[in-house]
Amino acid sequence: MKNVIAGAGAVLAALVSFSAALALESDEPGPPYEGPVIDVHVHAYPANGNGPPPLAVCVGVAADLEYDPAVPWPQFFTALSKNPDCDDPIWGPETDEEVRDQTIAAMRKHNVRGVLSGAPSEVAAWRAAAPSLFIAGRSLNIVRDDVAPQDIENEFRNGGFEVLAEVSNQYAGVLADDPAFDPYWAVAAEHDIPVGLHLGVGPPGSPMLYPDFRAQTPLRIESILNRHPGLRVYLMHAGFPFMDEMKAMLYLYPQLYVDTGVLQIAAPREEYYAYLEELVRAGFADRIMFGSDQMNWPGLIEEGIDAINEAPFLTYEQKKDILHDNAARFLRLEE
Ligand SMILES: [Zn+2]
Repeated sequence: MKNVIAGAGAVLAALVSFSAALALESDEPGPPYEGPVIDVHVHAYPANGNGPPPLAVCVGVAADLEYDPAVPWPQFFTALSKNPDCDDPIWGPETDEEVRDQTIAAMRKHNVRGVLSGAPSEVAAWRAAAPSLFIAGRSLNIVRDDVAPQDIENEFRNGGFEVLAEVSNQYAGVLADDPAFDPYWAVAAEHDIPVGLHLGVGPPGSPMLYPDFRAQTPLRIESILNRHPGLRVYLMHAGFPFMDEMKAMLYLYPQLYVDTGVLQIAAPREEYYAYLEELVRAGFADRIMFGSDQMNWPGLIEEGIDAINEAPFLTYEQKKDILHDNAARFLRLEE
């Protein structure tokens, strides 16, 4: 009798450990990744970049707005940023120096290096404040900036930047396949310059904040990748929310990467996770790079890293890929 009970106990113990192993393999999230992080979407941004500071933002910023267009959108959106309608708003600081210093502090806290987007003078000033943290990006909006393709080529040749990002032509209604941008794509292809392109949506109500802004689907990048197969492009914001088009492009163009910029606040967390999980389930976890798109909110860096680490469907390896390894491969960093 005693032996029978002992035998049953052993079987039970084996069953318990078997089911524990199954749970670990299937639905237990991996532990958080705490190694070095690469953020491919950092901005050298002023404190008033999204309106008069201080400004707050909520996770799921576009949800449940109950907006009546009797009030002009810019006025409504600014008021929302002053009186955020959530329990844990992320507040940005009041001065440009605080944006820079708090961004640097957040990056040091989480061992982050970042691709720093901005005009050359701003990027240089931020890099001087923390030389080892930043890879020099170069923001570009060909309508706003009045910079010729030859200027970009010269800047790159003179070591002015390493990554052409953020390309924000979409805010001026110039989409990825607009012939006006063809000569810039040609410069990037010729000099093997990685390009980060704003694609998908922008802030809620974008066309009422930036009159020429229009939604842009990932399909807009197809003719460019087709013409320049060696070109390294990452679609910022992972082309949110155009999932089918995004998967089609990632499938057809294995050189294409995406970043997660701003999705930690632009979408309710469940929606961000659903989008991210679908990309991962489709097999593209090796081409998703962490981007914070912190703008004037340094707190978006920690929020973004935590969102990846807390994602219940990601394994440890996938978190490490997204937070570091994929960007190191894409940017060909020696580490
Ligand atoms: Zn963007």
